[in-house]
Amino acid sequence: MQIIKNKIKIYLRNIVAIIYSYYLILIGKINKVKKSSASGEIILSVYFHNPSKKLFEKCIKWFLNNNYHFISDKELVDIIKNNNQFPRSAVIITVDDGWRENKYNIISVVDKFKIPLTIFATIEPIFENKSFWWSIVNKTKKIKENKMSINSLKTIPNELRMNYVEKLKKEISYSREALTSEELIEINENENIHIGSHTITHPILPMCDNLTSMYEIKESKMLLENKLKKEIAAFAYPNGDFTERECNYLEETGYHIAFTTQPNYIKKSNKINIFQIPRFGVVDNLPFVENLCRMTGVWYERKKYKK
Ligand SMILES: [Zn+2]
Repeated sequence: MQIIKNKIKIYLRNIVAIIYSYYLILIGKINKVKKSSASGEIILSVYFHNPSKKLFEKCIKWFLNNNYHFISDKELVDIIKNNNQFPRSAVIITVDDGWRENKYNIISVVDKFKIPLTIFATIEPIFENKSFWWSIVNKTKKIKENKMSINSLKTIPNELRMNYVEKLKKEISYSREALTSEELIEINENENIHIGSHTITHPILPMCDNLTSMYEIKESKMLLENKLKKEIAAFAYPNGDFTERECNYLEETGYHIAFTTQPNYIKKSNKINIFQIPRFGVVDNLPFVENLCRMTGVWYERKKYKK
């Protein structure tokens, strides 16, 4: 019964979201963003997690059909560091975590359209076949040992969260969710793809002590560089969470750029902090028209719809 109720709730929520999205398009919100992009006032910055090929391709095609061109994280670093003119109608695409399905759903589209893209890899799930920690929590939701939600686990000290998830792990069996090391090496050879770091264990960095936060940032860069034989210059904060401390550690350890999940445009008029690049998120299982409003930022203009 509860499952049916939840399904109805999601269905109704999506209907309202679709109507609201068409309303935003009809009143010209997306056209306005296209104009700002075309005049070089803003660069769009978009991130994905584990989209279907259909959704990912639809998003990329929308950008292509609307005269956007894709820039890499390296190009963005050059633009910001040299205070260059913003390119017209530019968008940067990034993908977080390193999900196994990315290999087909994302890479095939990258190859088809020859667009640059950065994948932020999480070391443990990829190198050691460990599950993403929130998946373990999700899968053990119904067992009595699991009394905490994913959101509440994000607010407790890192060590406590890790111990808690470690205990839950014993309750279930799980299969690989992330790319394999071999797949990551193969993807790294693709000239359109850059690999960035998304830490080792995907912790909430502000919930870590100094040593752990530094370890997650520095060691993940080193491990990736050893494995891929390439400089790792870009970083994405797990869950988008960071403090000044993380920005300083990233600079100290030689990263060139870091991405947040703050939903905003990269604006020419602002003093841009290269370790706090904003991004609009496309949500895997939402209708395309809503994701169109999300990736162009118009969704976030009304706070009550903010996610
Ligand atoms: Zn992530």
